[in-house]
Amino acid sequence: MSGTRERPDASGHFGPYGGRYIPETLFAASEELAQAYEALKGDESFKNELASALREFAGRPTPLFHAERLSDRVGASVYLKREDLCHTGAHKINNAVGQVLVAKRLKKKRVVAETGAGQHGVAVATVCARVGLPCVVYMGKTDMERQAPNVERMRLLGAEVRSVSSGNATLKEATSEAIRDWVTNVESTYYLLGSAVGMHPYPAMVRDFQRVIGDETIAQITHAEGRLPDLVVACVGGGSNAIGMFAPFLERKERVRMVGVEAGGSGRDDRRHAASLSRGSRGILHGALQYLLQDDDGQILETHSISAGLDYPGVGPEHAYLKDAGLVEYTAVSDEEALSAFRTLAALEGILPALESAHAIAYLLKHSASEAELIVVNLSGRGDKDLGIVANVQL
Ligand SMILES: *Cc1c(COP(=O)(O)O)cnc(C)c1O
Repeated sequence: MSGTRERPDASGHFGPYGGRYIPETLFAASEELAQAYEALKGDESFKNELASALREFAGRPTPLFHAERLSDRVGASVYLKREDLCHTGAHKINNAVGQVLVAKRLKKKRVVAETGAGQHGVAVATVCARVGLPCVVYMGKTDMERQAPNVERMRLLGAEVRSVSSGNATLKEATSEAIRDWVTNVESTYYLLGSAVGMHPYPAMVRDFQRVIGDETIAQITHAEGRLPDLVVACVGGGSNAIGMFAPFLERKERVRMVGVEAGGSGRDDRRHAASLSRGSRGILHGALQYLLQDDDGQILETHSISAGLDYPGVGPEHAYLKDAGLVEYTAVSDEEALSAFRTLAALEGILPALESAHAIAYLLKHSASEAELIVVNLSGRGDKDLGIVANVQL
């Protein structure tokens, strides 16, 4: 079973991972969503509405750019999938555009969401403004401080940003708060989750809304080179840009090597990282069985990454399945390597990548002697939001 179309099973499992470990009050809501989404997936009018929103509002298709000077540096032909050129500056908009159409079809009156770096919050505020739905975005207090421009963007777009100060005050706590709001207001409210994580059907639905990245890439690389690449690389936080890129490749009979790059943080053998797949163990978070960073008592650990968008202690359940099945390789690079890749891409190609995306570039720079001749890297977002961090960095 290598095709993503057969996953998950009817109960939302990818092998043992995923599922719905949720309170009874949420079960009906998640089931309503699962059934509605199942029906919409094959609905022609929904598919047409989605395609035109992606084209005319989100700015798709995004280019596949041949990075010549980076290719020379790496010693292989490297193409960048330019998700940084999407409206609002990252792949997050693909999923937000899709899910807000689901919310409309379900006749929900308000939208809630969580955000880490603020990219997903901005995407949600953007699509809610477009369709005229009120929205509340939960954001950790720490993240609100380090990503202040995105807080301002969300407010200008009409969203209410609610600060969450429990625990680490980052993405995990914001997600728990958004779920709490959803449980309390389940009749009126749509929960617009931002990555391929959480309880069924989110990991599958978010993957499906992001697979446009991989579908376009296959068409574009085939047009440019007459074949599929040897290697495809994407960064992994919750795992949505990576699964969106990988899913169509997993369905092909040609073998393409795929690598997911996590946040290795300090790069030392300590706990200051967010590499759930490379260094975590099995556990349940936000309704799904997955790989997690936890202590011996099952308490979730504080994570660290220079990029707020990768700073999450869990990862989408389909990635756990793909790792165990040996279909995708997962590894981590450090803050320092990501930062250096940020500077290298800026200097060689005139592109400031998001620090998240810089992790994927860093992998390439680190493994330039690999035998791959044709490589695609998913450039998940642009780096403007990170300029303050890059300028003030103390590693
Ligand atoms: C949020 C974000 C990520 C990480 O999220 P995934 O769900 O793993 O894709 C990566 N890159 C950018 C630019 C982001 O905004």
